Amino acid sequence: MGDVVLKAVNIKKNFAAHEVLKGVSMTARRGEVISILGSSGSGKSTFLRCMNLLERPTGGQIYINDQELRLVADGKGDLRAQDPEQLRQFRSHIAMVFQSFNLWSHLTVLENIIEAPICVLKRSKKEAIENAHELLQKVGLYDRRDYYPLHLSGGQQQRAAIARALAMSPDLMLFDEPTSALDPELVGEVLKVIRVLAEEGRTMILVTHEMSFAREVASEIVFLHKGEIEEQGTPEQVFNAPNSERFAQFIKGALKG
Ligand code: ADP
Ligand code: MG
Repeated sequence: MGDVVLKAVNIKKNFAAHEVLKGVSMTARRGEVISILGSSGSGKSTFLRCMNLLERPTGGQIYINDQELRLVADGKGDLRAQDPEQLRQFRSHIAMVFQSFNLWSHLTVLENIIEAPICVLKRSKKEAIENAHELLQKVGLYDRRDYYPLHLSGGQQQRAAIARALAMSPDLMLFDEPTSALDPELVGEVLKVIRVLAEEGRTMILVTHEMSFAREVASEIVFLHKGEIEEQGTPEQVFNAPNSERFAQFIKGALKG
């Protein structure tokens, strides 16, 4: 089935007494697009954030490219990385795109994209700019490269954020509701870019409410409910013959809404 890029095993997360993730496991092989669906509060963002330790899981194991991230308990009962250098390495394989673009407002689009390749990957400025120009063509923003984020539409800002994520040549991309903050007429241009990435064979985990898009681009659908996987399978399996009544209702609700 191809190489495993990410393996998350039995991920748990408590916030005080609240069990937000009750043991979620997921495997992303190279070229797979996994789409996570679920109602608000089901733990989707927390799960994504645990993958690069933006949130400290309470339990579980995480592997990238077969390497286990070494975790130790911190004082509060959560797990932290044992070795900061390993965490840094680990994070360099994973890029995350958020709902709220998170571009640096004092930098132009181009500067946003070249910052981390130069500072973190130690690329030369020339090389970083050349690569950024290619990425800007890919996301359709080459002519906006010298604009500041404030002067771009939400859709353009999100496409710039995707280009910035790509500039790190990640093995895995995590998208957390990348179109949820956008005006409806701008959603399509961002989904179009994500579709191109899927077609290129990039490994991605995508949290989205865009059900028909998930159905179209995902190789696997995962439906989370209250911190547990309630339904999982190929889009054909889960949309045509869901095992879970709750998921069936969820699809109906989404189609109506
Ligand atoms: P989703 O992304 O599926 O909407 P989240 O992962 O954001 O869900 O949240 C899952 C649950 O965890 C929610 O009940 C939320 O209130 C809770 N939660 C998330 N982050 C925190 C936090 N930092 N502290 C306390 N509770 C949190
Ligand atoms: Mg969320």
